[in-house]
This record gives sequence, C-alpha cells and structure tokens, in this order.
Amino acid sequence: MKGLVITDLSVSVDDRTIIDHLSLSFSDQQVYALTGRNGSGKSTLLNAIMGAPGYQITSGSITLDGNNITNLPTDQRAKLGLFLAMQYPAEIAGVSYADFLKTALTRLHDYAPDMKSTLHDLRRHAKALNFINFDYGREVNVGFSGGEKKKSEILQMLAIKPRFAFLDEPDSGLDTASLHRLANYLNNLDYPTSLIIVSHNRRLLNSLRPLVIYDMEKLQ
Ligand code: ADP
Ligand code: MG
Repeated sequence: MKGLVITDLSVSVDDRTIIDHLSLSFSDQQVYALTGRNGSGKSTLLNAIMGAPGYQITSGSITLDGNNITNLPTDQRAKLGLFLAMQYPAEIAGVSYADFLKTALTRLHDYAPDMKSTLHDLRRHAKALNFINFDYGREVNVGFSGGEKKKSEILQMLAIKPRFAFLDEPDSGLDTASLHRLANYLNNLDYPTSLIIVSHNRRLLNSLRPLVIYDMEKLQ
C-alpha cells in the first residue's frame, strides 16, 4: 500500500510500555491531526516513527509504500522523506543555522545544495513567519525563545520539503499573529507533502481542516 502505514505498534521507553498495539496510516498530500491528553504518547509515536534512540518497538511494523522501515536508521528514514519538527527542539551550540542546513541538505540529497538560493528562501520564509530576529549565522536554537525554536523547526521543514512532516505542537509559544501566519503558510506549501500535526489549538486545526483527527486514546 502507498503511504505510511503503522500496524499493531507497541513502543517502550526504559522498559515501560507507552504505546500499546496502535494502528493508523497516512496517505500522501493530506493533513492529519493527532490529539490525546498529555502523556498519551503522541511524541513517543512520532519519535518511534523517526527511529529515535531510546524508543524500543516491541511489536508491530511501520511500512512506507509497502516497504518495512521499522528498523531503519533515522537518517535513512529522513532520506525517504520523513521529517520531525520536535516538541522541544534542541540547542546546537557551535553550529550555525546555515552550516546545519547545508549539512542536512547535502546528506539528504547526496549533493551540495545551492546555498545562495537556500539562504535567500530561508530569509523570505523567516520574514513571512514573523521570525524577526532570524539570523542564519547564529547557532542553531541557542538563545532562541520557545516560539522562535518552533519557527526554526518550520524553517528546516521548508528547506527540506519532506514528503511526510510530523509537527509536534508547532503552535506552542507562538503569539496570535505568528500562529495566523503559520496556519496560512502551512495551507499554501508549494511542494507535495503530508502534514501530521500534534495540536489541540482550535484555530490552527480549523484553518488546516485535517482529513482525519486521530485520537491517541481511541487508537489503542
Ligand atoms: P504526549 O506527547 O502525548 O504528551 P509523550 O509521548 O511525551 O506524551 O509521553 C508519554 C509517556 O512516555 C509519558 O509518561 C512520558 O513520561 C514517557 N516518556 C516519553 N519519552 C520519554 C523518555 N525519553 N524518557 C522517559 N520517559 C519518556
Ligand atoms: Mg508531546
């Protein structure tokens, strides 16, 4: 089957079962929402889909277009078009945003990107997302406010153009004006993509009109 299919997935962290026999699927070029109370395992699911270390899959499978990717390393999943904008983006001291993005794009596509146009686009996106203090010469996320870190993740997504983008609470820390701009941007992406958005924000969800709202508590 085409798309991303998760079947009977169980995930443990530190030998504790967090996700218990969950099944759901994502098609191409659709918007999905993922909801559920705090601690219901939303972020755990996204981390498991990306193959993040520390998340043990104890049953079930993840397939992409019918190919089993359950045990694939994270970088190979990224090459297949999976992307995660994290709930709590890490600060990467000593690495500039421009170098970070150049390395990511080079590794993803196996050739060096045209950095002039990449940085030009980045500046344009930052402005449109109301990221006033954005400077790609600065260290990744270091000293950024909570909302700026979330915007920084969205900028990465816009440069990478993933086939499936998981956005873990992209609205947290955003003021009303920035939220409005983000919703507008996500509604008008100029490349084929599916968005899977973890959020309870009514305004964001009303604006994006997801095809399916998956509720973690009803899926298991
Ligand atoms: P949600 O995103 O729905 O709020 P999480 O997936 O963050 O839920 O958390 C689900 C449960 O898994 C929580 O009890 C949390 O403490 C635990 N958990 C998630 N990630 C880790 C981790 N890296 N180390 C320890 N516990 C974790
Ligand atoms: Mg979470």
